[in-house]
Amino acid sequence: MDSEAGAAAPAASSDFIREMVAEDLRAGKHGGRVHTRFPPEPNGYLHIGHAKAICLNFGVAADFSGLCNLRFDDTNPAREDIEYVESIEADVRWLGFDWERRMFYASDYFELIYGYAEQLIRDGKAYVDSLTADEIREYRGTLTEPGRNSPYRERAVEESLDLLRRMRNGEFPDGAHVLRAKIDMASPNMNMRDPTLYRIRHAAHHRTGDAWRIYPTYDYAHPISDALEGITHSICTLEFEDHRPLYDWCVDNLRVAASEFKSKPQQIEFARLNLSFTIMSKRKLLALVEQKLVTGWDDPRMPTIAGLRRRGYTPEAIRDFCARIGVAKKENVIDMALLEHTVREDLNKRAPRAMAVLRPVTVVIENYPEDRVEEVEAVNNPEDASAGTRKLPFSRTLFIEREDFMETPPKKFFRLAPGTEVRLRYAYILKCERVIKDASGTITELRCTYDPDSLNGPTATRRVKGTIHWVSAAHAADAELRLYDRLFQSADPGEGGQDPLTDLNPDSLDRVTGAKLELALAAAAPGSRFQFERQGYFCVDPDSRQGKPVFNRTVTLKDSWAKITARGAQTTP
Ligand code: ATP
Ligand code: MG
Repeated sequence: MDSEAGAAAPAASSDFIREMVAEDLRAGKHGGRVHTRFPPEPNGYLHIGHAKAICLNFGVAADFSGLCNLRFDDTNPAREDIEYVESIEADVRWLGFDWERRMFYASDYFELIYGYAEQLIRDGKAYVDSLTADEIREYRGTLTEPGRNSPYRERAVEESLDLLRRMRNGEFPDGAHVLRAKIDMASPNMNMRDPTLYRIRHAAHHRTGDAWRIYPTYDYAHPISDALEGITHSICTLEFEDHRPLYDWCVDNLRVAASEFKSKPQQIEFARLNLSFTIMSKRKLLALVEQKLVTGWDDPRMPTIAGLRRRGYTPEAIRDFCARIGVAKKENVIDMALLEHTVREDLNKRAPRAMAVLRPVTVVIENYPEDRVEEVEAVNNPEDASAGTRKLPFSRTLFIEREDFMETPPKKFFRLAPGTEVRLRYAYILKCERVIKDASGTITELRCTYDPDSLNGPTATRRVKGTIHWVSAAHAADAELRLYDRLFQSADPGEGGQDPLTDLNPDSLDRVTGAKLELALAAAAPGSRFQFERQGYFCVDPDSRQGKPVFNRTVTLKDSWAKITARGAQTTP
């Protein structure tokens, strides 16, 4: 794990938020301080969209020598859970960010937040409304029509105070009353038409238990939490743009009375991340988990941080992705291919290479001695000379990829076919002599010969067009490989209001159970990452058992065929 996130994060080029912060510093605003926060609601696991917000909040703080808090926005008890709190902490840490001792919960402030509500009533700026939810909606008006004042709007201060206290005491059922700010029912901004500050919820909270029967709304609790923590720049996604006047109203109307406020925070909105072929709605992701359409929040097909981690993504790749997509004010959709490209680029630099045969067919080298085993030298990472080399056992019986052989090959098939030659990676040139089939016509074995003078290395003189990977049959580990495709079929799974859950790709998981790997891979620890030559980047899954490793394919290799031929010729010693 990387604890110096700010330093390790790729230098993000400037964006409109960083420019605003720099300008505020120049103007001496906020006393020259920069303090941000990442405020997840613990009602689900974090996803790649949250990673964008995390990199932005922690990144801005780091760039301006400021601080960033982790704050759980736990104002809605119904959907929140400690499991989510713990997963969020783990994921933010894993991404490489450190909130030091500044982890807070909005629920820590419930008493203060409540006190400010009484203050607003006393100041004539809030009242208890007793209309039903339907009536409130009706009174609110529409975008084109102003709203109407509630008959309870001019209720006496003492009466509202009494009702709020009794709401708190649990004397009324859910929905009987709400506390509303007294702002302007004719405001062109619907959020300013006497917004709800408190509602009755007879629900246990994962931290405060049964202490509260009323819970503050996000719009009311968030600016207060920010001001209490001394947040200077409250960065959020675009859907809150129309809420900003209410954010400012809360800050302005409470500041004088609230001696605890440490700042006059300002809200800044940016466009959320949308990614093709996936969804970011926590509600929908939860539905996938609950309906067992995936194996859990950390299913490697999920766009969650936990899923990406299990899939084999590195925190560096995710941070690099966030830096590349940048931060803007306009919504757009990022191509999933960019995310895959960044992890490929990162793993290319550091994943050790190995040979793994996904769907094996047996090769018997008839002119290779029965009992002989020799060692050939293989390069661990052509991108990193310091990774060194390893010895691979070579023997008479090998496995090669079934699809690297064709009985009647088309032109330009440079792999193995009857009578043709191919190079075995790091080893000899192999020639196919005969094909053995079972009664059903399935190929069971390829009888081959090798050229003893063709060992790959500086003295190798003979060249053939193709190179294929292999493992020695007597020295192979069995493994299960899980190959993934997109979880959803369409680029925009929720398009036109359709339920994304009806758009699942039935072929998103391909379990390959009979794979053969280099023996050393059987003991690789969960989380270790490799490049299986020509097959992609793989990561050891926690489902692995002694002698029964399971690997997830993180991503395929682009253009692997062209590359390996060229590189094999250049860099193999
Ligand atoms: P919901 O509120 O529907 O439960 P949410 O995705 O907004 O879901 P939060 O826990 O409120 O979840 O999000 C925490 C922070 O992450 C918020 O500041 C939010 O703006 C930000 N965030 C959420 N989704 C994205 C996204 N796709 N791209 C960028 N930031 C996001
Ligand atoms: Mg939210």
